Amino acid sequence: MAYIKLNQENLYYNINQLALKTGNIEKIAAVLKDNAYGHGLEEMAKLVSSYGIKRAVVVNVKEAYKIKELFDSILILNANPIVAPNFSFAITEIAQLKKLTKGVKVELKVDTGMHRNGISLSQLPRALEIIKEKNINLKAIFTHFKSADIFSSELAWQMQNWDDVKKIATFAGFKDIEFHSQNSAALLRSNSFDDDYARVGIAMYGYNELPDIYDKIELKPVVSLWAKRVSTRLLKKGQRVGYGGNFRAKKDMIVSTYDLGYGDGWFRGDANKPYITPEGLPILGTVSMDFISLESTKDELCIFNNAQDAARHFNTISYEITTKLSPNLKREIV
Ligand SMILES: *Cc1c(COP(=O)(O)O)cnc(C)c1O
Repeated sequence: MAYIKLNQENLYYNINQLALKTGNIEKIAAVLKDNAYGHGLEEMAKLVSSYGIKRAVVVNVKEAYKIKELFDSILILNANPIVAPNFSFAITEIAQLKKLTKGVKVELKVDTGMHRNGISLSQLPRALEIIKEKNINLKAIFTHFKSADIFSSELAWQMQNWDDVKKIATFAGFKDIEFHSQNSAALLRSNSFDDDYARVGIAMYGYNELPDIYDKIELKPVVSLWAKRVSTRLLKKGQRVGYGGNFRAKKDMIVSTYDLGYGDGWFRGDANKPYITPEGLPILGTVSMDFISLESTKDELCIFNNAQDAARHFNTISYEITTKLSPNLKREIV
């Protein structure tokens, strides 16, 4: 079976790099949504919690339950709030606040410019009033930046809005709650950190998606994808391989079939523009659901060890390469 290796040393290296920015590990919340960006939720949760991370962010309650023993607090981004000791729920609209059941713990999301989710700055005083009136258990106020990974001044005005949010909340008497705003890109870019914690996803997994114009903080990819040899044959000059016969041998060659395909979350891509592995081997012809062919006889081949390189080939971002990895692939920690 094709499988995934998770490099523990690289993960801890990345966390240390990020802790230099936040000041300490306790100010890092590990974003583990979507099966830990495809890396494997439970494996990653165990690794980061054993290294001292105490906060996690996931997208739904199912994910939160799987890791609930491992963290002091778990923020759930998109779910109906329920009462659970260490769960807190993102609230993105006033209407949601009004419907809350007693005892649930919430974190109020404020829209500082992304215009995707969140309460606008002008609604914030009203939201805070409702929270006081209803005696809602507000754990934190947070925001999300829309352009932290793009070279522009947009982050600056969004951060200005964020400062205003903090002022409004403090002025309204919310002094003991937490404030958090930064994702990986914002954290890697900024030189000062005065939030209570940062929500870090992609950088923890080892990718710096900032344009080169910014100081590059070194990070090391955690995941690599491996496929195993199924069978080997001689492909005679002129013979073609795979669906549609999209690859034709220019000479006699030994090719093997490996057990990875788009059913495992690998990309089917374009047979005329073959993906090339880190060892320099092009995938020959069309990617099948469970198989690919390459000119090799090795028992195992590394398909990628840097999702950013793979992303460049498939014209996407590292996030999509890793998130698509099937949860059925075995995860091995090295
Ligand atoms: C996914 C997500 C993050 C993490 O973003 P990265 O760019 O991977 O660091 C942070 N905050 C929120 C609200 C998110 O949805």
